[in-house]
Amino acid sequence: MIYLLSGPPGSGKGTQSDMLVQSMQFKKLSTGDALRAAAKMGTEVGRQAEALMARGELVPDFVLFEIVKAALRDFGTARVVLDGYPRTQQQAHDLETLQAEFPVAMFILLRIGDREIVARIAGRRVCSQCQAVYHVQSRPPRQAGVCDACGAALEQRSDDMDEKIARRLQVYRKETEPLLDFYAQRQLLREIDAAQAEGAVFVRLQALIGEGGDA
Ligand SMILES: [Zn+2]
Repeated sequence: MIYLLSGPPGSGKGTQSDMLVQSMQFKKLSTGDALRAAAKMGTEVGRQAEALMARGELVPDFVLFEIVKAALRDFGTARVVLDGYPRTQQQAHDLETLQAEFPVAMFILLRIGDREIVARIAGRRVCSQCQAVYHVQSRPPRQAGVCDACGAALEQRSDDMDEKIARRLQVYRKETEPLLDFYAQRQLLREIDAAQAEGAVFVRLQALIGEGGDA
């Protein structure tokens, strides 16, 4: 059973999929990890993908599909949360050809408004020394701008700045919209209000997965 979890940057998608792995025995498959693993193992598609990436070219859908398929077969029958795949309608069609072997249980969208995301990401601060993560509203350090753990200065990551956030959101929405249609047509689209606290989002996520009849 495959669960597709989708959400814009700042929606907490990474945290939620990690929680599925830790407390619900999910396996997590990210295309980045699968690509690196295939390249390392020296498989035919792995070598193709590696050569393309080395030239700064995009890995075509059919190569990516072979890599995803191999990784899914490696996992066997476990419940899998896919991270970063499918990204296009073609990839969704490719994945659908595995329906008998690896059915998609649902496509779960973590819905959150742009303003909420900007507030979340713009408030993020990272320690310049130990990489501890803070947030000016939800997880402030004891002293503003100073790391609790090591006393070093906190900084804002350059890709956490407003303009870049807006750009990443645009890319995400453009990429995701056709997928929403694709999975809505198949009655597989589910939504969670991701503006809630992390714990509340996870409770909802567990409930959705339970309703899927695969728990
Ligand atoms: Zn620190």
